[in-house]
Amino acid sequence: MSRDVFGENYESSELGRVKESYSAQANDSEIKEWGQDGGVATAILASLLEEDYIDGAIITESGNEPWNPVSKVALNREEVIKGAGTIYSLGSPLLSSEEAVEKYGLENIAVVGTPCQMRAFRRMKTGNKQFRRVGSRIKLLIGLFCTESFPYSDLRRIVEEELETNIEKVEKMDIDKGKFIVYTDEGEKEGMPVSSLKKYAFPHCHVCHDFSAELADISVGSVGAPLGHSAVLLRTSIGVEAFDFLLEREVIRASPLENVEPGAGLIEKLSSNKRGDAREEIEERKENEQSIPPYAK
Ligand SMILES: Cc1cc2nc3c(=O)[nH]c(=O)nc-3n(C[C@H](O)[C@H](O)[C@H](O)COP(=O)(O)OP(=O)(O)OC[C@H]3O[C@@H](n4cnc5c(N)ncnc54)[C@H](O)[C@@H]3O)c2cc1C
Ligand code: SF4
Repeated sequence: MSRDVFGENYESSELGRVKESYSAQANDSEIKEWGQDGGVATAILASLLEEDYIDGAIITESGNEPWNPVSKVALNREEVIKGAGTIYSLGSPLLSSEEAVEKYGLENIAVVGTPCQMRAFRRMKTGNKQFRRVGSRIKLLIGLFCTESFPYSDLRRIVEEELETNIEKVEKMDIDKGKFIVYTDEGEKEGMPVSSLKKYAFPHCHVCHDFSAELADISVGSVGAPLGHSAVLLRTSIGVEAFDFLLEREVIRASPLENVEPGAGLIEKLSSNKRGDAREEIEERKENEQSIPPYAK
């Protein structure tokens, strides 16, 4: 699919195709407060909506149950900010994109999502006529770095049984320096090593080889950037155009990723590890004649 998106294959590079890379942070204090890292994903969406560059955004936020992800169409800054922060499970942004077109008649939509969701949206943009009906309205894809995610019931189990915390009291979940940590109104709870959570991850995450959302226009993650900042990889012309638009308006401040620690090297390392783990799992599944999703073959 890289040829359809970028006009060339890029398999030799750990990070996929990258035109420019930054460590960045939102300038808006409200967005910085609610954002997961530098609040960059939210700042991009809020500002592009205000400037009519897009007319809607597909985001994922907590639904009726705490930390149970629900994707939705956000039409203004307030709705986008309400969705800031990371939920370590999966929503259904594809359904929301249908709604954005069918119910709201939107023409220029931005989507935030995991690498697997970026792949699905790229298929919608490059697939047959039926897919392109919605896909042609998707203007900007913002992909999040991703190691793994968990079914909601297991996310609850991790928080309530492993970390002995009432999920209703959790204000933020984060992965930092190899630990999964929850924050409540009483502060930071003792975290647990991410390696011990592998057994809870969705089965398809074990064969997923994309850490840095290689098919997005803009990829955003915490790894690679200093605390409170987001690492940003601009992959396509539209990604560069949107980011420049925000830099000019001082919505975001950014320094080249090569000027900060730990920088792109750590993103490359985690990408390479994820690819290696996926390859091993695929080989094991082949030997045991277990199913392998088509995208992983
Ligand atoms: C399942 C998952 C696993 C991740 N794992 C890593 C990792 O291993 N390493 C790393 O560096 N970064 C990881 N990230 C990305 C990281 O947590 C931040 O989302 C990213 O750094 C952007 O930060 P920000 O402050 O710019 O985002 P914000 O400004 O807070 O915006 C975050 C945006 O992401 C959307 N969102 C939240 N949860 C989901 C979800 N489940 N699905 C789709 N969209 C969602 C929100 O609606 C919001 O628009 C992961 C994200 C997810 C969703
Ligand atoms: S690890 Fe891969 S399959 Fe699992 S949620 Fe992340 S991008 Fe999707």
